[in-house]
Amino acid sequence: MKATMIHAARDVRLEDQPDPSIHKPTDAIVKVVAACVCGSDLWFYRGDNPIKKPFPIGHEFVGIVEEVGSDVRSLRKGDFVIAPFMYSDNTCPHCLIGIQSACSKGGFWGGPDRDGLMADGGQGEYVRVPLADGTLVSTRESPDAAMIPSLLALSDVMGTGWHAAVAARVREGDNVVVVGDGAVGLSGVLAASRMGAERVVAMSRHEARQQLARTFGATDVIAERGEAGEAAVLELTGGVGADAVLECVGTGQAMNTALAVARPGATVGYVGVPHGVELPVRTMFSRNIGVAGGVAPVRQYLPALRDDVLSGAIEPGRVFDLELPLDQVAEGYAAMDERRAIKTMLRP
Ligand SMILES: [Zn+2]
Repeated sequence: MKATMIHAARDVRLEDQPDPSIHKPTDAIVKVVAACVCGSDLWFYRGDNPIKKPFPIGHEFVGIVEEVGSDVRSLRKGDFVIAPFMYSDNTCPHCLIGIQSACSKGGFWGGPDRDGLMADGGQGEYVRVPLADGTLVSTRESPDAAMIPSLLALSDVMGTGWHAAVAARVREGDNVVVVGDGAVGLSGVLAASRMGAERVVAMSRHEARQQLARTFGATDVIAERGEAGEAAVLELTGGVGADAVLECVGTGQAMNTALAVARPGATVGYVGVPHGVELPVRTMFSRNIGVAGGVAPVRQYLPALRDDVLSGAIEPGRVFDLELPLDQVAEGYAAMDERRAIKTMLRP
């Protein structure tokens, strides 16, 4: 099969890789229908995360079940499935409480599972899925082609934006601020809006992203950054600050802004992988600001979000503004790296 390998910073290639096969009775093989490039893939692409040796990349995909192991109960050949960005058994104590991203048997795509067997990357033609019953969520019927981008968005960005809103304890009627206008931040806007927030403030400097934020339910857009942006939020909220803040970037500046615009008693929900973030615990203490979040347990939210997509209640697939055949994966990365695209969808 063809699969995407990252060799070094700015060096991704579609290459021949061994076809996956069922190794364990709990496995499934999925033929990828659509995959995408994630902002967190760019940490490797930009050289911010080291690459010791080439590895298969990609952790967001939807597809058709090609084959299942003898112990797989919930899936059969031909099912359309959504894969969360991590696999999990969905039966261990961490999974049962809803934090499948900390599954005691789970792991990431594109590397060996706990038995040393390859769980393929998502940006390829086929994927061996470990723990298929616990990992994959199927649509009851084969979805309309127009819904595939939105179902694909549930693999990571929409579930992650949703987690930011859950962690920030967004309630109906709240004033919510979303820091970050990448695909996750925009999904966070959609999540807060869907949860009934009255005011959703998107912090974004880019016109295309501002427009999409408004489509997703943002009532206000603030283009300023840093102290000017913080002052603008305070003005919008009558000097009080936000009831809930979604931090969807992962940098120190984004976290500082998020903490500064939170009203006393508010919680900052954070889902961006932290790079150089230091929490000012004394300030948080004196202002009663909470911080909650982490690696999004997308699997927990998948069934409900799938139903929201299928009913037409949400259309998170609008974050994709570039669609390419899989053999142009390198251009898909370059376009996101250069911010020519918000998010790239790849079709094998
Ligand atoms: Zn588990």
